[in-house]
Amino acid sequence: MAKRATNKQKTQTKKTPVKSADRSKKKTAAPKKASIKGFSRKDLDHFKSIILEQKKEIMEEIATLRESIMDTSTGEYTGENSSYSIHMADQGGEQMDREITFMFASREGKYLRYLEDALQRIENNEYGVCRDCGKLIDKERLEAVPVAQQCFDCKTKQSKSK
Ligand SMILES: [Zn+2]
Repeated sequence: MAKRATNKQKTQTKKTPVKSADRSKKKTAAPKKASIKGFSRKDLDHFKSIILEQKKEIMEEIATLRESIMDTSTGEYTGENSSYSIHMADQGGEQMDREITFMFASREGKYLRYLEDALQRIENNEYGVCRDCGKLIDKERLEAVPVAQQCFDCKTKQSKSK
C-alpha cells in the first residue's frame, strides 16, 4: 500500500498587500513598425480605380476565354487541350470546380489574383510599399504596373541576380 502524503495546505486568507506603486499606468508602447508613410487616401483611391478597371477587363477576358474553351450547349470543354474536357455527369459541382481551377490556372486568372491582392493591400493601407526594401514604389511604376510589389531598384536587382 502506498502511503499517501496528506499535505494539507494552509489556506491563508491573508490579503497580499497591494503594492503602493500604482500599476494603473498602462504601458503606452505603441508598436513601432517601420514608420513608412504609405500613399495618401487620395492616391490609394486613384490606384484602386486603375485596378478595378483592369479587373473589369480581365473578367471580360476570362468570360471570353471560358466561352472559347467551353461548349456551352454540352458544358464540355473543347479545343486542343483535351485534358480539360470533362464529361457532364450529374456532378455540376465538380464541373464548376474544374472551371474555376482552369480559370485560375490561366494567365488571366493569375493576373486577376494579383489584382485582388493589390486591392487587399489598398484596404490594409499597405499598397505601394516595396516588399523588399519597404520604400514606396514610384507612382509612375504603379500606374504602369498596378500589381507591382517591388520598387524598381529591387525588381532590377532581383532579375539581375537570377
Ligand atoms: Zn525596394
